[in-house]
Amino acid sequence: VNTLLTLLLMPFLTGIGATLLNGRMRPRRYPATLVLHDICERPQPHLSYVLRSRFEQMLQIIVNQSIQTVTIDKIEPTTTPSPHQVALTFDDGLESVYTHALPLLEHYALKATVFAISGSVNQLVQDVYGRRRHLSSAQLRELQQLGHCIGSHTRSHASLTHLSPGARYEELYVSKCKLQDILGAEVTTLSFPFGDWNPAVWEQARELGYQRATLYRGRAGVYPDLIEASGIYAFDSLRDIVCKILPQKKRCIAEARAHIMPHFAKGSALWQFKPEYRLPH
Ligand SMILES: [Zn+2]
Repeated sequence: VNTLLTLLLMPFLTGIGATLLNGRMRPRRYPATLVLHDICERPQPHLSYVLRSRFEQMLQIIVNQSIQTVTIDKIEPTTTPSPHQVALTFDDGLESVYTHALPLLEHYALKATVFAISGSVNQLVQDVYGRRRHLSSAQLRELQQLGHCIGSHTRSHASLTHLSPGARYEELYVSKCKLQDILGAEVTTLSFPFGDWNPAVWEQARELGYQRATLYRGRAGVYPDLIEASGIYAFDSLRDIVCKILPQKKRCIAEARAHIMPHFAKGSALWQFKPEYRLPH
């Protein structure tokens, strides 16, 4: 029943919500920033994936429009972000980034940012989507050596807003240190699990050395280092994806829908609320 609900109702429900939110675009501080998760060869019983063929079409559009990719550690806030730049990011650090996305990124000479869960590196993890292999230390190093950026998606994918400052320190700092040990380089970028953040979370992350974070829930507001990003999901058409990459006069429904989707993610309050929802290890 859950699978049926996910596949049939979510795009519909989020489409309605998105329509209600549809309005004027707010000025951007950063180039268009996209959040992907899993790149798969076949359809999956959830929505947080993009077919490899669709991913390649997306990269072809980027190349054909002469848009350059920029990594999260290299973009700077500006009042006039370039329409010829896009930031591609991958949350969760799944092995499919290496096996399916990387060959295409290299083929088209494009760069991405990968936010890894430090406690899942080198592991086959049973999560709400099934058993999935995460990137190995060697794969993370290779990605970095090829010019891609590696950031943190915390230690255990915990919802940071539900943790005490002490537990948040563990998630934020332990993950940063472990990834730095693997990479031999500083890690300064962060993606909040489930998009859950608040000012206290970000201020603590900044104190621990993070300089930029992607945001796919809520608004960056007074925080110039938070980069508003749009998720790409299995049901997004190529046209939906284009409207998240190219500047639009009006906020398009696909983009508004992407901002609602994280509220429906498994582990969020709607599905399975736990004060400290985290992966089992
Ligand atoms: Zn995640």
